[in-house]
Amino acid sequence: MTGFDTVLTVDWSAAKRKPRRQSKDAIWLGVARGGTAQQQIYCRSRQEAEAWISKFLEEEQAAGRRVLAAFDFPFGYPRGFARRVTGSDDPLALWQWLEERIEDAEDGSNNRFDVASAMNRLFAGAGPFWGKPDQKNWPDIPYRKAGISYEEVAERRSADLAAKASSSCFQLFFNPTVGSQTLMGVPVLQRLRLRHKAAVWPFEKVETAQAVLAEIWPGLIEPAVKAAMAVAGPEEIRDRVQMRLLSQALGRLPAEELAAMLAAAPEAAQEEAWILGTGYEDRLNALAADEPGRLAPPPLSNDCFALPAGVDWTPVDDALQLLKDRLGPVTGGETVPLADALGRVLAEDAVAERANPPLPNTAVDGYGFAGGRAEGPHVLPLVQGRAAAGVPFDGAVPGGSAIRVLTGAALPDGVDTVILEEDVSTDGARIAFNGPLKRGANTRKAGEDVSADEVILPAGRVVSPADLALAAATGLAELTVRLPLRAGVLSTGDELVEAGEPAGKGQIFDANRPMLLALMRQLGFVPVDLGKAADDRESLRAHLDGAAARTDVILTSGGASAGDEDHMSALLREAGAMQEWRIALKPGRPLALGMWQGTPVFGLPGNPVAALVCTLIFARPAMGLMAGAGWQAPQGFEVPAAFEKRKKPGRREYLRARVRDGRAEVFKSEGSGRISGLSWAEGLVELGDGPGHIKPGDPVRFIPYGSFAM
Ligand code: AMP
Ligand code: MG
Repeated sequence: MTGFDTVLTVDWSAAKRKPRRQSKDAIWLGVARGGTAQQQIYCRSRQEAEAWISKFLEEEQAAGRRVLAAFDFPFGYPRGFARRVTGSDDPLALWQWLEERIEDAEDGSNNRFDVASAMNRLFAGAGPFWGKPDQKNWPDIPYRKAGISYEEVAERRSADLAAKASSSCFQLFFNPTVGSQTLMGVPVLQRLRLRHKAAVWPFEKVETAQAVLAEIWPGLIEPAVKAAMAVAGPEEIRDRVQMRLLSQALGRLPAEELAAMLAAAPEAAQEEAWILGTGYEDRLNALAADEPGRLAPPPLSNDCFALPAGVDWTPVDDALQLLKDRLGPVTGGETVPLADALGRVLAEDAVAERANPPLPNTAVDGYGFAGGRAEGPHVLPLVQGRAAAGVPFDGAVPGGSAIRVLTGAALPDGVDTVILEEDVSTDGARIAFNGPLKRGANTRKAGEDVSADEVILPAGRVVSPADLALAAATGLAELTVRLPLRAGVLSTGDELVEAGEPAGKGQIFDANRPMLLALMRQLGFVPVDLGKAADDRESLRAHLDGAAARTDVILTSGGASAGDEDHMSALLREAGAMQEWRIALKPGRPLALGMWQGTPVFGLPGNPVAALVCTLIFARPAMGLMAGAGWQAPQGFEVPAAFEKRKKPGRREYLRARVRDGRAEVFKSEGSGRISGLSWAEGLVELGDGPGHIKPGDPVRFIPYGSFAM
């Protein structure tokens, strides 16, 4: 048997239409080719998913590729169910029966409870379908399961028992709504099957079919999903991870092993269907797992930079929101000693091993004893010995006696209160002091700072020197951090020569690359120098081809608009993954955002001023998300302007600026070729999208370079 070229996995949903923003419990698809999870696709509705899958099957078949399309809901019902409904044991006759009856609108409203009611009426007694949104409607569907006998048909299929799935295809409401997913999914399967001549496993012969539909269940690879979620952090969408790993596992299976799994369906599966991979869970989990070291990142989808159609100039905030919604962490994790953790991004929450302080101790040098003391003079005998930090007193201090204690010392048994040495007189055998003194005075309680098992640093945090103190104090010697984001920088343009090289007439020195490479380092990324490419498509292609494997993200400058020499955008367009972002921003030109062999590319304008502003405003927060550090908006503050300026509405402007004597000065020229102004400035003044006439003394927003971590 030949293997499959492509694996598609489908995480189905019975829910209503979902928001534009990627969310959980929606329909998610996973695509793997050659054992690599290539993309995960988010679908807002079942119609959208059906159209996508249909087009995909068509294209794969046209290209001569063999496809396994695996769906996560039951393909069949327990034995005897089909006959009661259609008069036949053939599960595909039941598919047709459901396809003819189920109606599903684009907004997600549908008639599944009516169809289930009709089926319930065919059975004696209550059920088998149960669960609904309210007690009143659909009298033929019990609200709860109690009282349904499951004598004529079983509650679960052999497949569910074998896979240890606790769900039932008869449960329509309350999680898990497998029953509803099946009712809303089977009609889609039936249409796909007929439209694309796909063979349905295990009901039909699949050996020679070019497209095969099979049932899977992500629960089989739960251990691998759990591990990947721990690395990805809480912001990652679980469904996306499931589809990535499941497509990866099935895609990596050698043909013979997959053939064995397909052959493993027992007799009962001819009517009830079977979950592919049941009995092979360990193998699937091993194949699903990301490689250690650099864990395979969840690749971004090719259309992740798509902008809403029909918008001419996109406001800055909308463009930022889009990036925020679409991008996520792409780097794996590793565990490093504290000494190597500075500046790295935490991949998981750091949890205190031990309380701080670990034991109750004294906050001052003085004398310790039990209990507080009332107002008035007190004299206490001293016990022999003392307690110091790291040198505890081993023995108990009898009630009414005191002991010498030094700052940081664990409180000896029998001591809960300390008096400052400055407040005491002593003859070596006794101490005398005046009350009052509260019980517990001058001591620190165990765990008063941090208790054991407390989260001390959240996933996504960039580790600071102070964080290292906290981690060390609470018993951590290592932290699990993300692999640093590898950021490639490429300059494009025939006119560019390297600083230090002889420059001919009409040539200029490449200023962007040293700037952007240095900036990448300052932002905590690994700068990858991709050199410079001439203004021709082949040269550019050669540079990018080599780069995609060595980088997690690529910044290019120059050639990003739609002009004749703008090969960057032409090349990305040719790859089918280029979006021209026309952002209402000055300084700036259209950005070319795209994917090159799975690596996101930010095509920046060539002008150094525009290149830096676009990097700081757009690329930096986007890269922060990819690096796992979350979205970091720069912090600005208002200062009075030291300048006058009239501004047109309809775009946001960033001026090179610095603060002197508490007022924001701007550079003498707004010319975007003026590199000296970038260097003169210590930050940017941000002017809002609306019109404006700024006069000296008016408040303006100043964002220091430091707020961009620059
Ligand atoms: P482009 O976006 O390619 O049309 O370039 C716009 C302007 O920026 C042109 O004047 C280019 O010469 C200049 N430019 C492009 N790349 C660089 C670079 N790496 N360093 C300095 N100037 C550049
Ligand atoms: Mg150019």
